[in-house]
Amino acid sequence: MDEHPYTFKCNTVAQHGGQELDPLTNARAVPIYQTASYGFKSTDHAASLFQMQEEGYIYSRNVNPTNRVLEKRLAELEGGIDAFAVSSGQSAVTIALLTLAKVGDEIVATNALYGGTYNLFAETFKRFGVTVRFVDGGNFSELEDAINEKTKAIFTETIGNPGLQIADIKMISKVARHHGLPLVVDSTFTTPFLQKPIEFGADIVVHSTTKFIGGHGTAIGGIMVDAGKFNWANGNFPEFTEPKKSLNNQSYINLSNASAFIAKARFELGHDLGTALSPFHGWLFIQGLESLSLRMKQHVINTQKIAEYLAEHSQVAWVNYPTLKNNTQYELAKTYLPKGAGAIFTFGIKGGYESAKTFINSVKLLSHVANVGDSKTLVIHPASTTHSRLSPEEQLATGVTKDQIRLSIGLEDVEDIKADIDQALQKSVEASLVE
Ligand SMILES: *Cc1c(COP(=O)(O)O)cnc(C)c1O
Repeated sequence: MDEHPYTFKCNTVAQHGGQELDPLTNARAVPIYQTASYGFKSTDHAASLFQMQEEGYIYSRNVNPTNRVLEKRLAELEGGIDAFAVSSGQSAVTIALLTLAKVGDEIVATNALYGGTYNLFAETFKRFGVTVRFVDGGNFSELEDAINEKTKAIFTETIGNPGLQIADIKMISKVARHHGLPLVVDSTFTTPFLQKPIEFGADIVVHSTTKFIGGHGTAIGGIMVDAGKFNWANGNFPEFTEPKKSLNNQSYINLSNASAFIAKARFELGHDLGTALSPFHGWLFIQGLESLSLRMKQHVINTQKIAEYLAEHSQVAWVNYPTLKNNTQYELAKTYLPKGAGAIFTFGIKGGYESAKTFINSVKLLSHVANVGDSKTLVIHPASTTHSRLSPEEQLATGVTKDQIRLSIGLEDVEDIKADIDQALQKSVEASLVE
């Protein structure tokens, strides 16, 4: 909030960041600017806006005042300098990476990814002529070896899906820095209240705001945040440094009023592909940010309790939640997730595939949906749904197994969540006895 002479802490920023009272009405809440276009004061004013000589509004495909509050607020929460909000998490990942890489270029990505992102990289980016090399996120020599002169970015998720691999962002960013490459981190599972990837060396942070930031499963959206630390003039990114006609012969890095990355993302791919965020959805995400910290705290409390409960259950073969004491990632979690490992975790059900199906068909309170980060508890069987398009080898590399059930724990009373899980586990035992 640059209008204030001092820096606020997180919870204050979540309520006030990026907002100035509406000059006409002094409306306390952020108004929804439900408009496609904005009047120009004169032809000179219009020209100056079009050539990005001054900040302002032209058309809501590029910038909208409601979404601008969301962008500034999230940028501030993440410790970045600016952000660009778009219509989905998928479009945020697409635009962030294709702002860096074009046909013939390459990206190196860790292999434990959200299913949609994996598909985007392995199939759609390939059709665009951008090659994504997948590596084991914990194997830094494999990461190093996958980088070549065509590489334009390194991509990881803070917590892998559904294997819950915690990214060692400090180590990955060291490799990225060594090669003059930006590190792009998807922090959807963590949100700025559990982790700020920029503090560990991320250059660009992306979110699916559909998940915890929205928080109630009501709207699809995404956002990218620029840390403002990457040197685009290091020789690897000529598109950022060459003068552009459309910018009055300035280059992106010479624009004084915008971060180079966000300006390029917004006015090239955002403008041309047209994945604009509806201001109403932007407004829902602002509401979400205002309660995010409280919700994340309760998500973590409920999740830890359910994970501990399942770890003791006779019908459960294994539980993977990083903050369980015997988890292989317990130490990494201390560094990267000191406030908790979020609301998503997996467990293996005894009896394998069939028991997993019976369990899911037997839950009553839990919702069987392809989503995470809702205020309601969600459940899915990744092998037959979100990750079913992957080959058996790809499933294994990603951390998907046949007996694996993924939970996204919500904000219901934890006793009620437990009771529903318990009765469904009983049914899965009975089913396996019948066979
Ligand atoms: C959901 C999700 C996405 C995609 O976001 P959408 O809003 O569904 O397009 C990307 N990354 C992660 C980690 C996600 O959970």
